[in-house]
Amino acid sequence: MLFDPYRRKINYLRISVTDRCNLRCRYCMPEQGLPLTPHEEVLTYEEILRIVRVFTKEGISKIRLTGGEPLVRKGIVDFLSRLSEIEEIRDLSLTTNGLLLKDYAVDLKRAGLKRINISLDTLNREKFSMITRRNGYENVWQGIEEAMKVSLSPIKINMVAIKGFNDDEIESFALLTLHHPLIVRYIEYMPSGEEWKEGNIVTIPEIKSRLEEMGKLTAIPSDEWDGPARRFRFEGAIGEIGLIGPVSDHFCEACNRLRLTPDGKIRTCLFSDDEIDVKGFLRNGGSDEDLRKQLLVALNTKPERHHINTHQFKKCQRNMSAIGG
Ligand code: SAM
Ligand code: SF4
Repeated sequence: MLFDPYRRKINYLRISVTDRCNLRCRYCMPEQGLPLTPHEEVLTYEEILRIVRVFTKEGISKIRLTGGEPLVRKGIVDFLSRLSEIEEIRDLSLTTNGLLLKDYAVDLKRAGLKRINISLDTLNREKFSMITRRNGYENVWQGIEEAMKVSLSPIKINMVAIKGFNDDEIESFALLTLHHPLIVRYIEYMPSGEEWKEGNIVTIPEIKSRLEEMGKLTAIPSDEWDGPARRFRFEGAIGEIGLIGPVSDHFCEACNRLRLTPDGKIRTCLFSDDEIDVKGFLRNGGSDEDLRKQLLVALNTKPERHHINTHQFKKCQRNMSAIGG
């Protein structure tokens, strides 16, 4: 098992397989995109597999693929099926914007994916185009339907709540949980991207009190794999509500994660720009023991907490799309 200096058990690695994306969500990327990591600097699937094999021997047991948009990277299904053969991985998941999901859901399921997170910030077609600067609302819905059809489960819908953008849809998203087997998760708007303003955050306490006006919300105990989400259910609902408050709800003491960037750096906290290189070791003949040592360096330098909400806070240098959210 892996523990950091604050006695937190670290068992979760989020892998950003690409910084490329087929959407341009206003809160994440500028219209023109961002300077991309050159292809030769992006970790190959072989390299990622090697890192994962070493890290899972040490105690990482939960893996999430993210991006950028993971489904735009060629060969992702085959990569996933190779990951799913690593027996130490007890939980393998993927976060996607859903645009290509309709065509991928069956293959992802066959490749060994059990569950999936889909980001969707509005239930209105025009607003979708405004927020993401691309069309495709129907495609995302078809993707969600296909994911239900092939029994990827649970399906979590991530909604970043932003004032004046989609905060009028908080209740409509909650209604989805009544009749669909979906977990709707509200996420606070985090300080990243060009357009972020503190005044645009809709806090989790605000969201929760609006939901409570709709009906009785019962808390559901979290399990080992829930991460920072607090879980609730409306009476009689098939689905669930999840509340994730990185800004208002200081959950760092329960943080169990590390992140791997497309260019082979470990990030120990979403909001810390300290990065530990692993690619250099991979490409210069480093041994598995060297990789293991880099993992331990990462563990030992993991900060106790982020500093959003304090005067020490500064926005991170890397964009969310290159870290994986
Ligand atoms: N492209 C995939 C997607 O959108 O699901 C995966 C990568 S995306 C960076 C991962 C998650 O980060 C998404 O759920 C997205 O909504 C979230 N995200 C991006 N920027 C954010 C921000 N400023 N605040 C909160 N969440 C953000
Ligand atoms: Fe792309 Fe996801 Fe960022 Fe939207 S949130 S621009 S889909 S990486």
